[in-house]
Formats: sequence, structure tokens, C-alpha cells
Amino acid sequence: MEVKFKEERDKLVRHLKKIGYIKSERVEDAMLNVQRHLFVPFDEIKYAYEDRPLPIGAGQTISAPHMVAIMTEYLKLKKGDKVLEIGAGSGYQAAIISRIVGEGGKVISIERIEGLADFARENLKRAGIKDVEVMRGDGSLGFEPEAPYDKICVTCAAPDIPEPLVGQLRVGGRMVIPVGRHAQELYLLDKGEDQIVKRKVGGVIFVPLIGRYGF
Ligand code: SAM
Repeated sequence: MEVKFKEERDKLVRHLKKIGYIKSERVEDAMLNVQRHLFVPFDEIKYAYEDRPLPIGAGQTISAPHMVAIMTEYLKLKKGDKVLEIGAGSGYQAAIISRIVGEGGKVISIERIEGLADFARENLKRAGIKDVEVMRGDGSLGFEPEAPYDKICVTCAAPDIPEPLVGQLRVGGRMVIPVGRHAQELYLLDKGEDQIVKRKVGGVIFVPLIGRYGF
């Protein structure tokens, strides 16, 4: 079975490279090596290497592989980065980030729904990924005790960029976040010494961020 999955995964990665969503070796390596079929519910396994979101329960989804590639490329991750993810869902995006930041790095992922936080933890364990800490809570507040973060990856759409997340980003750090009340845009936020630069990089569709600084 793993041989078949590996072939499907290789094919998907080749496709994402060809159409320009995978640009770097580090993202290619992560997407070749993290097994997406370990992060979807049993009924969805046969679709694990199709380039589309899949249901993971509680009305939520694992993002499409091309969206994971796009967001991960924009994060410009480096070995040793400390990363905060909002919206653990299946744990797949956190696994991809973890593979890139390596053992010296750290990934903290916050999930609002208890059952999904458990699902993400189980999937990460099955995939043998140890350096991701999944916590249940309102990610719109960030997680102050571990701040500052080199990178913040938000995988649900916020009405506006949550202030606590900007505060917890390191100077020189980058946040990737979908924003929008109706139509959503993916934003990159770069935090400099004395200015914050926000850039819209394209339309997206994400489930809403629900919380104090969310919907
Ligand atoms: N990154 C996930 C993955 O790789 O499977 C996909 C995440 S899914 C598109 C968005 C997730 O954000 C959902 O699981 C949802 O419950 C979660 N979410 C929504 N609002 C949240 C909040 N305030 N704090 C933490 N998680 C939240």
C-alpha cells in the first residue's frame, strides 16, 4: 500500500512543482516525505493525494496540497525557526513545517476544537513527528509564553489580522494569514524594527477563524 501512496505522492509533488507552487528544495523534500494519507480520516484515504481539501470532521478540512505548498513557500522557513500555527486541524501543515525547521526548531500549533486537537496529535504520532506541540485553545490570542515566534502560519481566515499575533511575532519575522469577511486574501506581514509591511498575494478560501479576534 505504501508503494502505491508513494507513487501518488511523487506524482502530486511533480505536478505542484511543474505548475510553480513548489519552488524550493526544502518544500519539495517536506511534501515528498510527509505522508498525507496519515492525516486524513479512514474514508478519505483514497483521495489523500488528490489536490483538494478533504473533510476531517467537525465541519473542518485539511487544506489542499497546493495551498499548503503556497503557504509554506511564503513562510520562508529556516532550520531552527520557532513557528506558531493557528488551526492544527489534521496536523499535516504542522508536520510539513516541522520537517523543514528540523530538530533545532519548534512548532506550536493551536486548535480550537478538542476532537481535532486529539486527531492532530494522533496523526503526528503515527507519522513519527515529535517536535510539534498541539494545544487546544483560541489561537487568535496566540500563545504568549513561547513568544516571540520567527514565523506565524494561520490556516483559518480572520476578519482582520489579530493584534496579539502581530505582538508575538519576532522583529524580522513573517506571518502568513488569510484575511477577509467575505472574499478572502492571503496576506504576508513582515515585522521590521519600526514598521510593519503587509502585502496581499492572492485570493483564497479558508474556514473562519472563530475566537476573540476572529469571527
Ligand atoms: N492546518 C490544518 C491542516 O493541516 O489540516 C488545516 C486547518 S483547517 C483549514 C482550519 C482549522 O482552524 C480548523 O481545524 C479550525 O477548527 C481551526 N480554528 C478556527 N478558529 C480557530 C481558533 N480561534 N484557534 C485555533 N484554531 C482555530
